[in-house]
Amino acid sequence: MEIYNITPNLKLLNLQPPIPGYGKFIGAYLFCGEKNAIIDVGPKAAIPNLLRALAELNLSPDEIDYIVLTHIHIDHAGGAGTAAREISKAKVLAHSRAIPHLVDPAMLWQTSLKTLGELAVKYGEIEPVPEHRIIAATDRMKLDLGRGLTLEIYLTPGHATHHLSIFDRASGVLIAGEAAGVCIEGTVRPPTPPPFKLEENLSSIDKLISLKPQKLCYIHFGCYDNAGERLKAYRQKLIDWHKTVGAAARDGKSPEEILQLLRKEDNSLSYLDQLDRDEYAREFALLINSIKGLAGSVQKH
Ligand SMILES: [Zn+2]
Repeated sequence: MEIYNITPNLKLLNLQPPIPGYGKFIGAYLFCGEKNAIIDVGPKAAIPNLLRALAELNLSPDEIDYIVLTHIHIDHAGGAGTAAREISKAKVLAHSRAIPHLVDPAMLWQTSLKTLGELAVKYGEIEPVPEHRIIAATDRMKLDLGRGLTLEIYLTPGHATHHLSIFDRASGVLIAGEAAGVCIEGTVRPPTPPPFKLEENLSSIDKLISLKPQKLCYIHFGCYDNAGERLKAYRQKLIDWHKTVGAAARDGKSPEEILQLLRKEDNSLSYLDQLDRDEYAREFALLINSIKGLAGSVQKH
């Protein structure tokens, strides 16, 4: 477990669930004002590390006022119920579409098992969040944490229908969840699993660009300057990949063949050559899923 200082009131926690290839992939963010807010908690398997990070920062779990979930995929929020038990005073803020699945995660768990198989088991079974602890996020709502720290919430569907992003206007920090892609050591690639919605994701990126953020923070993984440039480049990459994947899928190519094609067309995918075996297996599986989502999104057009 590692802790990075991003700004004087923001830290990035590397949650490092005990899964090979996941040593630098799943983050959570901690905003500290008079009140404190955690953005995403990771899967259940990462909660011991999340609690360890709080202890290392001399924060009692009772001092956390909010848990904000960018979306409820298992790698971001699978541990929300477990975390809420330990972090017992925090309200859990999530998209209204996500709330029924937080209260009763049975279907979410079954879907996770079906799509991720053994990986879902390693992430850990999803526990429910008590309904009275949950607040429904609305677009442009504000969380005042005191000491001049206010978090603005923006609904940013596309990667998931229940996705939201968090903006700290005072510092220009944008936590874009997965709305702005996945960033591996500086290289950005689309996370577009089925049922991916291209137009929604593009609109969400436009909304984020209009905020004029300075620093872009990815849950997968880390914070980078030049947020506006990064968002614009990612918007174009989504359009380019959508075109390439769509044409190849219409030609009857398999997702694996399409990945080969993308590796020839998009130099940025050379980051795959730098990964160790477990990281490569993780990225390969996620990229195949992204290609399936893009192909599905094309077919619906
Ligand atoms: Zn994710």
